[in-house]
Amino acid sequence: MIIPNAANAEIVITRVGTQPSSAGPTENFTGSVRVDSRFQAKAPARIGGGLVTFSPGARTAWHTHPLGQTLIVTAGAGLVQEWGGPVQEFRPGDIVWIPPGVKHWHGATPTTGMSHIAIAEALDGKVVEWLEHVTDDQYQR
Ligand code: MN
Repeated sequence: MIIPNAANAEIVITRVGTQPSSAGPTENFTGSVRVDSRFQAKAPARIGGGLVTFSPGARTAWHTHPLGQTLIVTAGAGLVQEWGGPVQEFRPGDIVWIPPGVKHWHGATPTTGMSHIAIAEALDGKVVEWLEHVTDDQYQR
């Protein structure tokens, strides 16, 4: 599709350093989590995400994504689990697909930090539904 030149039809480069790092809020994360290079495309696109860095032992709370989520693993060693399933380890270069509506968490291993680029599409402006924290018992299993 060719979109004629208009106010929103220019390439945008968001320069590093112009957007402060943000901390993963304690209500949605356990441990130290940092988000950089956040992005959100303008409608009609609905893709958004960011580069998320977890310290050893850090992880998301349980949550779901209305249209699913893709994780591109860039550093370290990570863990992901869907509700009722095994904890699975992943490594840099791996791509993790989380289907729509699947309750899950992701994070670093207990001993090694992890970074991934997280990408998700918004449905009615919403990309995530946050649930309860991942307990130490659930994390260490
Ligand atoms: Mn997720």
